[in-house]
Amino acid sequence: MKIGALEAGGTKMVCAVGDETGKFTDRVSIPTESPEITMPKLIEYFKSRDVEALGIGCFGPIDLNRKSETYGYILKTTKLKWIDFDFLGTMKKELDIPMGFDTDVNGSVLGEVTFGQAKGLDTVVYITIGTGVGAGVYINGRLLHGAAHPEAGHILMIRHPKDTYEGWCPYHGICLEGMASGSAMKDRWGRPASELTDNDLAWEIEADYLAQAITAFIYTYAPQKIIIGGGVMHSPGLFERIHSEVLKKDNHYASVKELDDIKNYIVLPSLNDDQGIMGALALGYEAAKESR
Ligand code: ZN
Repeated sequence: MKIGALEAGGTKMVCAVGDETGKFTDRVSIPTESPEITMPKLIEYFKSRDVEALGIGCFGPIDLNRKSETYGYILKTTKLKWIDFDFLGTMKKELDIPMGFDTDVNGSVLGEVTFGQAKGLDTVVYITIGTGVGAGVYINGRLLHGAAHPEAGHILMIRHPKDTYEGWCPYHGICLEGMASGSAMKDRWGRPASELTDNDLAWEIEADYLAQAITAFIYTYAPQKIIIGGGVMHSPGLFERIHSEVLKKDNHYASVKELDDIKNYIVLPSLNDDQGIMGALALGYEAAKESR
């Protein structure tokens, strides 16, 4: 089956064509400008390739409530030109095919569950630590939605005793994104995360906040695997710190037995940074199956 996949990001739109086995035959990257400039390019791409279904993993926040009048809209995003834009409706007007639509991080967790290391598992958390922080949750064999999509990237933190930083998030200050995102690290230390390898305290603090979040996710979802992606995670030694900090914070409380093998429990993504676009492919295939 010929399936279109769109990973809609704030800086670029990755468009691809593939099939249900996860094989791609074509891929392009289009810069994200305004909806007026960018949307026609996306539509033209998928129209010209005769895809039979389309999956979209989109930056957020977005409206995922199918009963809502603004289902498929981008909501109050920091990308101002896209606020209140009917993303899904605009695609549907031009392409009469089944479409799956979800958050980018839900796309990534679905990609790992469908094609990657989490294949066969039914409860998995995917966290991305980039300029912002987001989390996608796959629980009991399906993507987690609620009254709106959850905002696990903004759970509140307990301040690290050596940290005086006020926090990057304009809404909360001291939340996960506010304290541990790449933007927060750069703002706190005056240098991007990639240039902080000599700053031991920076990584002690970073691991502490990430471990707080991960412990909260273990207690709330009891996932079988936790995958953490995003630029910040490539820092040497960070995973080791997170592993030991999670075990310390948990203090042998959680009954999740996977914690005994923590190196295979809290892990990097497995799809060479293709988890997002592969997740979009999976969203497209699910939509096609659903429409039959
Ligand atoms: Zn926040």
